Amino acid sequence: MKFDRSEELFERAEKVMPGGVNSPVRAFKSVEMTALFAKSASGSKITDEDGNVYIDYISSWGPLILGHANPEVHKGVMDVFEGGISYGLSTKKEIELAELISSMYPAAQMVRMVNSGTEATMSAIRLARGYTERSKILKFEGCYHGHFDGLLVKSGSGALTFNIPTSKGVTEDIAKDTLVATYNDFKSVEKCFEEFGPEIAGVIIEPVAGNMGVVEGEREFISALRKITRENGTLLIFDEVITGFRLGLDGAAGYYGIEPDLVCFGKVIGGGLPVGAYGGKREIMSEVAPLGDVYQAGTLSGNPLAVHLGLNLLSYLNRNPQIYSQLEDRAIRLEEGLVEGAKSGKIPVTVNRVKGMLSMFMTDSPVTTFAQVMTSDTKIYARYFKKMLSQGILFPPSQYEGLFLSAAHTDEDLNLTIKANVNALRLAG
Ligand code: PLP
Repeated sequence: MKFDRSEELFERAEKVMPGGVNSPVRAFKSVEMTALFAKSASGSKITDEDGNVYIDYISSWGPLILGHANPEVHKGVMDVFEGGISYGLSTKKEIELAELISSMYPAAQMVRMVNSGTEATMSAIRLARGYTERSKILKFEGCYHGHFDGLLVKSGSGALTFNIPTSKGVTEDIAKDTLVATYNDFKSVEKCFEEFGPEIAGVIIEPVAGNMGVVEGEREFISALRKITRENGTLLIFDEVITGFRLGLDGAAGYYGIEPDLVCFGKVIGGGLPVGAYGGKREIMSEVAPLGDVYQAGTLSGNPLAVHLGLNLLSYLNRNPQIYSQLEDRAIRLEEGLVEGAKSGKIPVTVNRVKGMLSMFMTDSPVTTFAQVMTSDTKIYARYFKKMLSQGILFPPSQYEGLFLSAAHTDEDLNLTIKANVNALRLAG
């Protein structure tokens, strides 16, 4: 497999773009390669500039739950172009999307559209502070909530991959209002509440973490968070930027049977275009301007293109709920195949799966905590990644991301992946 064209483009990109990319994980640095440049994609496959074709498990990091260039998602998009793509005025479809999200996710009684997951979490935090008139936020080590200063403390995803979980540029003053507890360890949460209870505005969590690899929030842990936040007048914020409409029609809230006070969405709700949204109880959302005094705005928020794609995708999922059991069946097959393949090799492998979300850790330890995530051997993962790539399988170029399956992945894709896994594990050992 040749990467000449991608390497050439990367060299060119490095001259004008920091690290040659617009988002760090795309640089493929942690798997010791130069970035791949995509040329086109369809269904489960992506083609790079050298003409290599891969079965893609990055899926644009989550939005493409029906696969690339899906006609149901793209339907009518040219009509949007022809009618004008931005007005600076409201459109009917914004209401339709908010109504749809609200009907699927009852805790989101009111919804505000923004342009990214980061904007959603940043705005939800401001709202939590404004509503409670408190300053501190509690988050969990290894969870990633976008690149907003106050949440870029001991975070996961690319920040963890590049070993800068607390970014330079986040001042001590900002970081001091961010308390960090241990995922799935309620005692660490209690400790924060004992010390700072009346100052904590919100607890934000990925209920199923996807940014330290996939790690499931234990049911008792998530329920205990609901209880302690209620008892302390603190808002519980579910970051469902990944899980929202990927875990199921009602996201992690439905999976756990627990309603957060605020919720953040992104990825799937824009069908592949830049998007985000936050929502929650009417009483809390009523604090958002122009109704209330918490200011938040956006020139392109609720733009017709993203809203159109989001509506297409969410209504398709709503009409076809069987997609979720299909995704789960595929994820189970992949999980079983990856685990079975590891039995014949020397590399220890643990696969975590929740519904249709899964990831693979190079460790023989169970992975239910951040500390256990860190037992995974990232050097082996890098070698494994490259061996998979050379067989036409594109896994995420970082240990700390999930595999994103889509409805477009076929049985044949899975068979090829499972077969490639056996070879890759043998060769990477
Ligand atoms: N929250 C979670 C759980 C995410 O996974 C991400 C991005 O991966 C974000 C927030 C930030 O979203 P965005 O990259 O759209 O700003």
